[in-house]
Amino acid sequence: MKQSKLLIQTLRETPRDADVVSQQLMMRAGMIQKAAAGIYSYLPLAYRSIRKFEEIVREELAKDGCQELLMPAVLPAELWQESGRWKFYGDELLRFCDRKAKAELAERRQRGETPDEREYYNFCLGPTHEEVITDIVRKNVRSYKQLPMNLFQIQTKFRDERRPRFGLMRGREFTMKDGYSFHVDDADADREYWAMFNAYKRIFARLGVKFRPVEADSGAIGGSFTHEFHVLAGSGEDAILSCDGCEYTSNIEKTEAPALPVGDHGPALELQYRHFHTPGVLGQEDQARAMLLPMTQTSKFYLFKATFSDERGEKKVGVVLRGDHEVNAVKVKNHLGASDIELLELEVAEAISGAKSGFIGPVEFMNGKNAAGYVFGEYMLVDSSLQHAVNLSCGANSTGYHHFSFSPARDLPGCTFADLRMAQEGDVCPRCGKGRYQAFRGIEVGQVFKLGLKYSKSMGCTFLDEQGRENPMVMGCYGIGITRTVAAAIEQNYDADGILWPWPIAPYQVHLLSLDPGNAEVAAVAEQVERDLEAAGFEVLHDDREGMSPGAKFKDADLLGFPLRLMVGTKGLKEGVVELRDRRTKAVLKLKPEAAVAEVSAARDRIMLELETAGGR
Ligand code: ATP
Ligand code: MG
Repeated sequence: MKQSKLLIQTLRETPRDADVVSQQLMMRAGMIQKAAAGIYSYLPLAYRSIRKFEEIVREELAKDGCQELLMPAVLPAELWQESGRWKFYGDELLRFCDRKAKAELAERRQRGETPDEREYYNFCLGPTHEEVITDIVRKNVRSYKQLPMNLFQIQTKFRDERRPRFGLMRGREFTMKDGYSFHVDDADADREYWAMFNAYKRIFARLGVKFRPVEADSGAIGGSFTHEFHVLAGSGEDAILSCDGCEYTSNIEKTEAPALPVGDHGPALELQYRHFHTPGVLGQEDQARAMLLPMTQTSKFYLFKATFSDERGEKKVGVVLRGDHEVNAVKVKNHLGASDIELLELEVAEAISGAKSGFIGPVEFMNGKNAAGYVFGEYMLVDSSLQHAVNLSCGANSTGYHHFSFSPARDLPGCTFADLRMAQEGDVCPRCGKGRYQAFRGIEVGQVFKLGLKYSKSMGCTFLDEQGRENPMVMGCYGIGITRTVAAAIEQNYDADGILWPWPIAPYQVHLLSLDPGNAEVAAVAEQVERDLEAAGFEVLHDDREGMSPGAKFKDADLLGFPLRLMVGTKGLKEGVVELRDRRTKAVLKLKPEAAVAEVSAARDRIMLELETAGGR
C-alpha cells in the first residue's frame, strides 16, 4: 500500500481533548476521528488492527465450536420488559420511539394531553444482547439433543455512558464480541465457562499483551460467578490485587480482606454517653491524635442510602469500619443484595444524626437517641475486623463529643458483621495464608460470566430432557471489548515517539521508507522490495511521499509504530545496502535489498518467539 494514497493525517501536537496515551497516539497517528462524544470513526489503519483482533477472536472461538451470528443493534422494548431489564437498566440504555409511537404521542398532544414521552419509548440501542439471543434460542431449540450451544457475534454496541472518555477505551459506541451459551444443567454450564476462560487466555496471549484473569464482582447483570480479563497498564481504571504466593487475583471491588489479629486492649470499659469532649476533632487522624490512640483504635462511620428492587424499597444503612480502613461500597451493596447504594448527602446525615460531620457515630443509631429517632437494627453493618474489638473511639452524635470505650459487638446489639472493607496492597492473602497482595492497574477487556437461569426463567427459554420434561436452560455469557482491547494494547505498548504495535495486530508489519523517492534508483529498489515482501505474505506500507525530509518520515514512522521499518536511501544504495530497524529495540541491520524477505522473516520469527515466551514483548 502506498502511503501517498492512504487516508491519513498525522499530527505533531497532542490534541488537547485527548486524556490518555492510546487516545493521544491514535488521534496523532490519524487512526480515529471523533464524530461526537464517545463516538468515533475508525480510519483505515485503526480498522486494520480491529479486524485483525476480530480474526484472532474468531479463530480461537471456532476451536471451541462457537457459532457466529449477527443480531440487530436496534432492539424492541418488549423483550427487555420480559426479562425485567427495561425497568432496571439505567440511563446507559438509549431508548427512543419509532414512527408509529411518535404519531400516537403527537395525537395525544394534539388533544391537549401531556403524556409522558418515556412511556412511548418502544425501542433501544443494544448495550448487550441477552434478551435477543434468549428469544432466538427459545424459538429454535427444543430438545436436549441440540444442546449445548454457544453463539456469538461481533457487533457495534451503544451505551450512553455517563462520562465517555479515553477515546476507544470508554466510548458510547464501541465494538464488542458477545457470546452466549445454553446448557442442560449447571455442570455443563460450568464446563463451558472454563472452556471460554481458557479460550480468552489463548486470545489475549496471541494478541501479545500482558494480561491477567481476575475474579470479579458480578454487578448488575446478576449470576453466580465471573472473571474479568485485564490488560495491565498504569492508566487502567480498575485496581487489581494479586497474591504473590498463590493464584488468587481479583478486582479490588471484590478482593477478600484478611482477618486481623485482635490486639489486647484490656477489658471493655463501660460506654458513657457523650463521654469525651472533643471540639474541633473531625477526621480519624484528629481523633487518634486528640485521644492519644493508634489509628487502629479509632472507628469510622458511613451512612448510605440503599435501593432495593423488592418491597424493601429504600433503606438507610450504617457501616462501621476501623479508622485506618476504607469502605468497599461494592461489598456493602452485595452484602445487602441492593440494586444501588450511595453515600447519604452530608446535610441529610447531619440532620438525622443531630451532629456535625466528624461527630456522627453508630451507637445512637441502635438505640434511637439520634435527632431523627432512627433505629438501624440489621441495617447496621460492621466490618468483620471489628468483631472482637473493644474500647474504640467513635462519634457520639452530638457536636463536639466522641465516645471512647466503644465496643461494637456490645454497643450495637443486632448489628451484622461482614467483610466490608477494601483489601490493600501488602495484606496477607486469606486464600493461601502466606503470600501478600500486590497491586496492579488494569483495563477490563473481557469478561466471562455464568448467568444461570436469570434469563431462561424470566423469558421461558426451556428444553425437553430425555424424559420429555420441560426445564429452563442454564446460560453463560462472554464478552470482549474489541475496540477497547486495541486501545489497551497501545496503553501497554508505546514510547516517547509513538506506538509499539504488537505484531499480531499491527496495522501493517513493515513500514518501507523511500528516503529520496525522486532518485530513480531508490524508487526502483523500494518498489522491488515492496513487491518481494508482499509476495512473501508481509503487509507493507510504503512511504513513497515526495518532497519530505527523511527526518519527517522517521518521525511519522515512529508515531505509527509498525514493528519493522525498512529504509531505502541514496547513501545506503551507494554501498549496496538498505537498513532494517526494529521499532521496539531500535536495533538496526544493514542488508542487501535482495535479502529483505529473509531478514524480515527472521526478525518476525524473533519477535513472535519473544511474544510467545514473555507474554507480551
Ligand atoms: P466497564 O465496567 O468498563 O463499564 P462492563 O463491565 O460494563 O465494562 P461488560 O458488560 O462486561 O462491560 O462488556 C464486555 C466488554 O465490553 C468489557 O469487558 C469491555 O471490554 C467492553 N466495554 C464495555 N463498556 C465499554 C465502553 N464504554 N467502551 C468500550 N468498551 C467497552
Ligand atoms: Mg464487565
